[in-house]
Amino acid sequence: MSHPFRYIALAAALSLAGCQPVNTTNGGAVGVQRQQYMFSMLSSQQVDQMYAQSYQKTIGEATTAGKLDNNSADAKRVKAIAARLIPQTGAFRQDAPGWQWQVNVIKSDELNANCGPGGKIIFYSGLIDKLQLTDDEIAAVMGHEIAHALREHGREQMSRAYAVQMGESLGGALLGLGQGGMQLADQVVQYSLTLPNSRENENEADLIGLELAARAGYNPNAALTLWQKMGQAGGDAPPEILSTHPADSTRMANLQAAIPKVMPLYEQAKGRN
Ligand SMILES: [Zn+2]
Repeated sequence: MSHPFRYIALAAALSLAGCQPVNTTNGGAVGVQRQQYMFSMLSSQQVDQMYAQSYQKTIGEATTAGKLDNNSADAKRVKAIAARLIPQTGAFRQDAPGWQWQVNVIKSDELNANCGPGGKIIFYSGLIDKLQLTDDEIAAVMGHEIAHALREHGREQMSRAYAVQMGESLGGALLGLGQGGMQLADQVVQYSLTLPNSRENENEADLIGLELAARAGYNPNAALTLWQKMGQAGGDAPPEILSTHPADSTRMANLQAAIPKVMPLYEQAKGRN
């Protein structure tokens, strides 16, 4: 099918399945323009609330286990970097700087980091220590994870899953939403953090993350060294984050191509810091 027809057919199919076109973000200097569709009965607020519960549980468990790290040098670096990145989210969506952001570091060997719906950031100390990440590299991975939250990729992936489900059952599945099988809250966690994102979503998060870091005065070239380090940490025990974020040549090539677009923003920001 030619492009416009394919687009119209997709839009029609998704709208029949209860999905509506949504623009979560502006395109930014990196030009992320893909039209998104969200299931109309699954609001951002609903997803954020359900995710916040799971986040609080994770933080509560880490606190009980004595693993929550608020005072180490790592924790201070992570919080300082977040404090510079978060205000830059306004360049992509106006509401984001006002979200109830939370930033925590958990002591763990895991090589992982995430930012769930609504701006709930967790860094695992293993990622910083084992890969000896610089501040610029921490900003690169944090920017990437924040970008998933800004684009609401978790909600979008859930919406697609519901659209497929509805298509299969000719609409009847809508009534079963959240019943039977997995609870809705578990699905939010799964679609936001656990399941691999599509290649397209990964690319969007790379591009927006690159721009967020540059706007905050962090060197965008660090995105390349970050993913090189991730790739080298593979082998027998690949980093947890690699299961959802392959550090492949496509990612590297796309990052490399986008860096010149954000370099002027980095130069401007560097002058201010
Ligand atoms: Zn990602």
